[in-house]
Amino acid sequence: MKTYKIATIPGDGIGKEVVPAGREVMEALTTAGAGLRFEFENFGWGGDYYRQHGMMMPEDGLDALRGKDAILFGSAGDNQIPDHITLWGLRLKICQGFDQYANVRPTRILPGIDGPLKRCAAEDLNWIIVRENSEGEYSGVGGRVHQGHPIEAATDVSMMTRVGVERILRFAFKLAQSRPRKLLTVITKSNAQRHAMVMWDEVALQVSKDFPDVTWDKELVDAATARMVNRPKTLDTIVATNLHADILSDLAAALAGSLGIAPTGNIDPERRYPSMFEPIHGSAFDIMGRGLANPVGTFWSVVMLLEHLGEQQAAQRVMSAIEAVTANPALHTRDLGGTATTAEVTKAVCDQLAAGRQAEAA
Ligand code: ATP
Repeated sequence: MKTYKIATIPGDGIGKEVVPAGREVMEALTTAGAGLRFEFENFGWGGDYYRQHGMMMPEDGLDALRGKDAILFGSAGDNQIPDHITLWGLRLKICQGFDQYANVRPTRILPGIDGPLKRCAAEDLNWIIVRENSEGEYSGVGGRVHQGHPIEAATDVSMMTRVGVERILRFAFKLAQSRPRKLLTVITKSNAQRHAMVMWDEVALQVSKDFPDVTWDKELVDAATARMVNRPKTLDTIVATNLHADILSDLAAALAGSLGIAPTGNIDPERRYPSMFEPIHGSAFDIMGRGLANPVGTFWSVVMLLEHLGEQQAAQRVMSAIEAVTANPALHTRDLGGTATTAEVTKAVCDQLAAGRQAEAA
């Protein structure tokens, strides 16, 4: 039986509820005879760790993760610690330390979910957003001078390198090529941002030559928001910068029914380091500790994790179990208008996996 080493990092807020739920589902997969097992190691990093140690994770934290096959992450964010500290001190430290330069975010309207777009059939919205995850607007380059004085100045420099742009576009073209529609939309803002974004357009054209079977177009980010709402069917794979895709993927998650459903993978396509999978939502302090968190975003992240490990069959089993559960409104959490708890949804998905095994055996 194949064994995978998995690091779990629940982090803060509802991360502490949904990551253990994700682990339960992975363990249920083993029990259900998927032919694989997991060795988990949990890391209690995040806001509580910061209060004790003055940092979100230890200096040598990356070394503890390096030998893992994948990481399941919850959320970094604490209402007593500034957001830039929680973000840069944990999640970005891992993403950048392991050069997880492709952030991949699938969006679909799952069975039983009532999306807010009234004119959109569920099958019309099936996107995968690729977000550049290592540079651009979130490079961390910039500074502040004369703080507190009227002449104070501050910059956040968006840094784009040809290597960084080319590798993410190549990844996106390849991903588009692997999907049935072979359709890619490259999002920029190259009318107003006339340096780096123009370079994106140029590199996209150059990379496209290696993917003659992929149909692609360009869209400005502002127009892209309207297109997502008005003509969702015209989109399939989407690639954009760190900031643009960050915003577009929250919109995508909302259009698919709830932030609580959406998953993401921070991928090192070259597989030099472990990749990290997480629900896209944050710590959600307003609902933490009350059993209200929707764990589906984490379960779908587990599906992505399994796909990344090459365990397509196991991934499909978990996805089918998730879909069977979302199809039943009695198993919807409060964000979807239901009353089910995190534990009830988790149990239902585990039961589905077990039922799948019994059906196979029969
Ligand atoms: P952060 O700063 O950590 O990103 P946030 O509060 O700004 O946190 P989210 O945590 O993503 O952003 O939450 C936004 C809203 O969505 C909150 O009202 C939260 O309760 C709700 N929400 C987010 N995730 C879930 C979930 N898994 N289940 C139910 N509701 C959720």
